Amino acid sequence: MTKKIYSDFNYSENHFDTNNHSSLKNIWPPFSQLKEFTNLGQVISANDAILYREQGIPLIDAISSWWVTLHGHSNQYIANAISTQALKLEQVIFADFSHPQAELLANRLSSITGLEKLFFSDNGSTAVEVAIKIACQYWVNKQQSRKQIIAFEGAYHGDTFGAMAVGERNIFNAPFEKMLFPVERIKWPETWWSDEDVENKEKDSLDKLERLLEEPTIAVILEPLVQGAGGMRMVRPSFLKAVEEKVKEANSLLIADEVLTGFGRCGSIFAFKKANIKPDLISLSKGLTGGFLPMGVTMATQEIFNLFVGDNPNLTFWHGHSFTANPLGCAAANASLDLLLNNPQKYKNYEKRHNYFMNVLKKHPKVSRPRICGTIAAFNIKADGPSGYLNQSGKALKEFAVKNGVFIRPLGDVVYLLPPLCLTDEQLEKCYLTIINWLNSI
Ligand SMILES: *Cc1c(COP(=O)(O)O)cnc(C)c1O
Repeated sequence: MTKKIYSDFNYSENHFDTNNHSSLKNIWPPFSQLKEFTNLGQVISANDAILYREQGIPLIDAISSWWVTLHGHSNQYIANAISTQALKLEQVIFADFSHPQAELLANRLSSITGLEKLFFSDNGSTAVEVAIKIACQYWVNKQQSRKQIIAFEGAYHGDTFGAMAVGERNIFNAPFEKMLFPVERIKWPETWWSDEDVENKEKDSLDKLERLLEEPTIAVILEPLVQGAGGMRMVRPSFLKAVEEKVKEANSLLIADEVLTGFGRCGSIFAFKKANIKPDLISLSKGLTGGFLPMGVTMATQEIFNLFVGDNPNLTFWHGHSFTANPLGCAAANASLDLLLNNPQKYKNYEKRHNYFMNVLKKHPKVSRPRICGTIAAFNIKADGPSGYLNQSGKALKEFAVKNGVFIRPLGDVVYLLPPLCLTDEQLEKCYLTIINWLNSI
């Protein structure tokens, strides 16, 4: 572990300024209004759940660095796999060649998901784009004219155009509204502990789904069990089962965006397994490489794949990325799978760990809608101001937490923990105590 002296960190000195001479002057950071951008400094190393900065106290990474770090930072086993692979084969064009790590990964993911075919891309957004494009062309290849796509309110599927189109229309994609293809939407019947209205909400959504599905539909896309960026909004597994039944009855396709929920995050290896459903297409990324390298994959059934095979070039799925099946990414993904499959109790037991603390938190007068799904725990702050992403209360909590050695990034008034699997009991306790201390202070 890195040993160094940690000086106190001063927020005000690190405001982003496009005109200043700081080392940040040539950088355009993601998902941030730069006028009020506060940079938490350079991270120079990280180990397991801890981020070490050049200045400032070490931080517990309680959100897995935007939900990607699965086992822990700088995991030795995955780092070794990447390093070994880099000295053997770093990249090769995948349209003309294959390589052992890609074939191994495809075999393994296919046998775990039950979907026979794997298509490689670069990140979560492209894994979703590929799923949408395959679904659209599937019906074209079948010579059926279909236009309707159905998605859920509050969904987030990524930042490329197709992914934006199926996501919730909001401030993030408003400038592009006119360029996004139309999508029909259904309310996501989110639920929480002691929610008495859940059955009504589910029934309303299912009724609307059934009505919409009267029109021949290309696909229904959803984030199984948890809508992530939309505010860690959770549904019951039985709701997904009911959705699946309606989609199958209507002879449409079901796309599961497991970019966040995959690889144990929801307490089973994939969220769709917990809901006992079988999607036709599955998008994966984030935890796929253990959070080491950007890579996305889209799984498809043999039945879908078969529609793309034939003498007519029009049947071809003309899609590919420069770094398709990058061997380093595949090596990381295979190593990550080794760790996951060898220690399933690590993600299976997480719910119990959260449960203990959430049972304390739920009694706090400032806490509403407590909820847990596998490794993800969330609640809403009872705060003044607008509800949702633009509520300011989460920001104050974030500042407080960082000063106390915990990195979290609330979604407006939604506070959540989504830690790497390696987080110790002491570290988890520290995360919860920090949140409770802040709640007591407001
Ligand atoms: C993060 C996310 C995406 C987009 O993935 P990127 O790698 O950021 O492009 C898509 N879908 C879901 C459910 C996500 O959480």
